[in-house]
Amino acid sequence: MPLGEFQLIERYFRRDGVVPESVVLGIGDDAAVVRVPAGQELAVAIDTLVAGVHFPVETAAADVGHKALAVNLSDLAAMGADPAWATLALTLPEPDEAWIAGFAEGFFELADDCGLTLIGGDTTRGPLTVSVQVAGHVPAGGALRRQGARPGDQIWLTGTVGDAALALAALKQRCSVSAEEMMRLRARLDRPQPRLAEGQLLRGLAHAVIDVSDGLGADLDHILDASGVGATIHAVKLPLSGAMERYLGATGDWALPLGGGDDYELCFTAPESARSTIEARFAEVGTAVTVIGRIDGRPGLRCVVEDGEILDPRALGYQHFSGSVE
Ligand code: ADP
Ligand code: MG
Repeated sequence: MPLGEFQLIERYFRRDGVVPESVVLGIGDDAAVVRVPAGQELAVAIDTLVAGVHFPVETAAADVGHKALAVNLSDLAAMGADPAWATLALTLPEPDEAWIAGFAEGFFELADDCGLTLIGGDTTRGPLTVSVQVAGHVPAGGALRRQGARPGDQIWLTGTVGDAALALAALKQRCSVSAEEMMRLRARLDRPQPRLAEGQLLRGLAHAVIDVSDGLGADLDHILDASGVGATIHAVKLPLSGAMERYLGATGDWALPLGGGDDYELCFTAPESARSTIEARFAEVGTAVTVIGRIDGRPGLRCVVEDGEILDPRALGYQHFSGSVE
């Protein structure tokens, strides 16, 4: 006989073990009870993943569990927050125990890695949809914001951009990549790594921060809007993977690195005087970080390409998934 809702929750989502001090009461009652440590504030975010819209329907359950949490943690990273707890609303077409076991494995592997506790949720029947709400602690007044970029600031980017979009393009057979490249690209799409340590080390250092979920052009534009400034970036400075370099060499298509979503890197601005501190702190956590341009007073976002051509990255909206409503 298939397990009922309560048994599924008991078996896969309620876990024994040490609970952090900030969690007074977890799964099992009508509501969870939490405590915010003295001198801290709570940063809260929620994101929903719909099968066939935000991930391919054939995505492995463990990857869905990982990604549903990772995209939310990426928002906490962009605020400079330290993950504390999450709630999970799971809508499933049927109570498929193997799928739930896989989902829980992917979810908790990442949750354990970053010290996050699942404190509650809701389980309902319907088209496969996963909503995760996360909360993290940040020193009072110290949350990193989108506003605050100033003319003269350098614009920085962690990791590489465009890989998740390239994975999707290859999956849809719009381009071809080697089997080895596909493995790495698919990991970028299915197993994004939220830049938590990187966000926290930017506290008190960056003027403005955002995570790149909708594409570099669109997300950098949010910083510009919130800060009332403009920017010029340089295509040749964009940090790219080998697979993306090869794709660009063959197609010259900047839409992927400038417009492709789902990378979950951090884009931030900081004064030039912070450069050596930024480089030293990123070297300590072993994460690549690159200056890609500069904030200026002239409104708009310009991307200078090698031959002197100037692109507006916001016009390069890359359709990241068929059926996407975004
Ligand atoms: P209620 O009917 O009072 O809303 P539920 O039956 O929805 O309670 O849930 C019972 C308990 O199980 C609650 O503590 C709730 O937070 C938790 N819960 C339900 N679904 C999930 C889930 N998918 N993940 C984690 N906790 C869950
Ligand atoms: Mg409920």
